[in-house]
Amino acid sequence: MTPWAALVRMPVAHILFMNKPNMSAAPPQIVERDAAKGASAAASGAGANGDAPAPGANFLRAIVADDLRTDKYGGRVVTRFPPEPNGYLHYGHAKSIILNFGLAEENGGTCHLRYDDTNPLKEEVEFEDAIAESVKWLGYDWGGHRYHASDYYDDLYRFAEWFIEHGLAYVDSQSAAEMRATRGTLTEPGLDSPYRSRSIEENLDLFRRMRAGEFPDGAHVLRLKIDMGSPNVNLRDPSIYRIRHASHHRTGNAWCIYPLYDYTHAISDALERITHSICTLEFQDHRPLYDWVNEKLAEGGMLARPLPQQIEFARLNLTYVVLSKRRLIELVDKGFVDGWDDPRMPTLVGARRRGFTPEGFRLLAERVGVSRSDSWIDMSVLEDCMRDDLNARAQRRIAVLDPVKLVIDNYPEGQSEDAEAPNHPQQPQLGRRALPLTRDLWIERDDYTESPPKGYFRLTPGAEVRLRYGYIVKCVGAEKDAAGNVTVVHCTYDPSTRSGTPGADARKVKGNIHWLSAAHAVPAEVRIYDRLFKVPFPGARNPWGTRNDAAAAGDPLPEHHAVVAGDDDEGVDVAERNYLDDLNPESKRVLEAYVEPALAGAAREERFQFERHGYFVADLADHEPGTPVFNRSVTLRDSWSKP
Ligand code: ATP
Ligand code: MG
Repeated sequence: MTPWAALVRMPVAHILFMNKPNMSAAPPQIVERDAAKGASAAASGAGANGDAPAPGANFLRAIVADDLRTDKYGGRVVTRFPPEPNGYLHYGHAKSIILNFGLAEENGGTCHLRYDDTNPLKEEVEFEDAIAESVKWLGYDWGGHRYHASDYYDDLYRFAEWFIEHGLAYVDSQSAAEMRATRGTLTEPGLDSPYRSRSIEENLDLFRRMRAGEFPDGAHVLRLKIDMGSPNVNLRDPSIYRIRHASHHRTGNAWCIYPLYDYTHAISDALERITHSICTLEFQDHRPLYDWVNEKLAEGGMLARPLPQQIEFARLNLTYVVLSKRRLIELVDKGFVDGWDDPRMPTLVGARRRGFTPEGFRLLAERVGVSRSDSWIDMSVLEDCMRDDLNARAQRRIAVLDPVKLVIDNYPEGQSEDAEAPNHPQQPQLGRRALPLTRDLWIERDDYTESPPKGYFRLTPGAEVRLRYGYIVKCVGAEKDAAGNVTVVHCTYDPSTRSGTPGADARKVKGNIHWLSAAHAVPAEVRIYDRLFKVPFPGARNPWGTRNDAAAAGDPLPEHHAVVAGDDDEGVDVAERNYLDDLNPESKRVLEAYVEPALAGAAREERFQFERHGYFVADLADHEPGTPVFNRSVTLRDSWSKP
């Protein structure tokens, strides 16, 4: 048991929205690798070799099955994935995508891709395109159902007037600070705005003039008239429109008022006839507002029944990364990484470039499951999913990452023979390939030492090892430069020990090292990527999480979650230390390596296991047949030590 496994951590959402009697009854816990694997084996029967996991039972699948049984939606299953186009998708979004598209797919339904583009200041087409690409990369298809919240601006406006006309909305002219001050607290009710009793006529007039651009930003907001005394702050007359004299990436300058998230989201779902609106737990307290808005409009005959139902699940929290968009943007903007698709970034474009696989993410989603209480997933769980998937799909190749010469003194100069290596040890149908063997080879520098530690079975003067797929050689010494660095290791070989011949088994040696013919090896750039942060909880007061610490995660809330009753979206940053101090300085190393000839022709994004090293992918952007570039996706085994 590692020190942080027992940690009890409050969900960040508790800090802002407290009227949640049934939220997160169980304290969040870190789920570690073995637990996750065990759970998945029980829940899903997932094979350990990366075969597609059989869907296991979970509460979302149960709800959908039940609704189909009772014919609640006439047999329809329509879900949606609603990203805000203000950044690139991250690992957490993969969970949401897999859930939403997966549920639809399993039930013959559809899943809509809907951009929640209600904030003109932060949204860009660049992000929209990248989001669509990532959803496709994960293997999903929205089948023509690609929508934007901005498609509904006319309806949203019309409905807002309807709310005003029915005495259910009013224009508030208090300042943001005044609204904050009268919002009340978790234990105290809010106070009615002095503008709450404006007449319908005055409200309509003001709202139309807001739309016509007569007022500056912040002069007024439109609020629903619900209940300032509600124990749920989200029902205390939430703002639904604000003035923003800003150009929108799709609607241009057509609007200078923009609808806020809760209002927009509920109505967008209903207009699209969504059946199951699945979102993360922090929206649980927004559900009464979601239902209020849609119910009122349905009562008024503005929306069709049956209305969508919102269902919450626990978001994916991962150790050793940050998943808040604000921080991801900072990492990119300040140059701590090489862009959004840097393989160390926990974005889906980064994952792709890292060589992670869509199937690995699906395996993760199954292993982690869905629940209604917050937990932390150890990064090793994700890495294991990628390993398990890559192990099944990646062909084996040889690369020497830190090369030093090995000369077989008794091997004839100029001679060459082919050793044969299987492309995949468990899949003989993938065939074998030839590895040219010559007198001068490249081996790993650390496969030779003059002073072997206990248990070292590789090259050391007098010791014998097998050159994988070749011969047994005996080390006879080494040459060094003036500084004492080994430049050439010498050995002799025993011609009767060639692999695959009867002599191969005559002698047993413990060491088995890989090598490349110096005359045939191809130079390659190999980028060794590792975890971006060196601690599980970057920025937390105790980044190793050994203390109970409500702010341990340190991730600020998504910005729109902080928008309550006219507040402008200020994220709440609960970090205790600067998360940038926890960056792993070793997260990227660039090596000049040698790879076997067969790798020179690798296609971009082709994935391999480099024997004894890990899983690698030919870089999506920089790899060229003549100048190969490989990225390390993940090591062969978990090598992260825990203090
Ligand atoms: P931010 O990244 O700024 O914190 P956000 O993650 O909510 O905000 P959106 O683009 O609005 O960003 O998210 C789209 C969908 O993805 C939402 O339904 C959201 O609930 C879901 N989602 C976001 N983060 C996670 C996560 N870590 N795990 C699971 N689902 C997530
Ligand atoms: Mg969101």
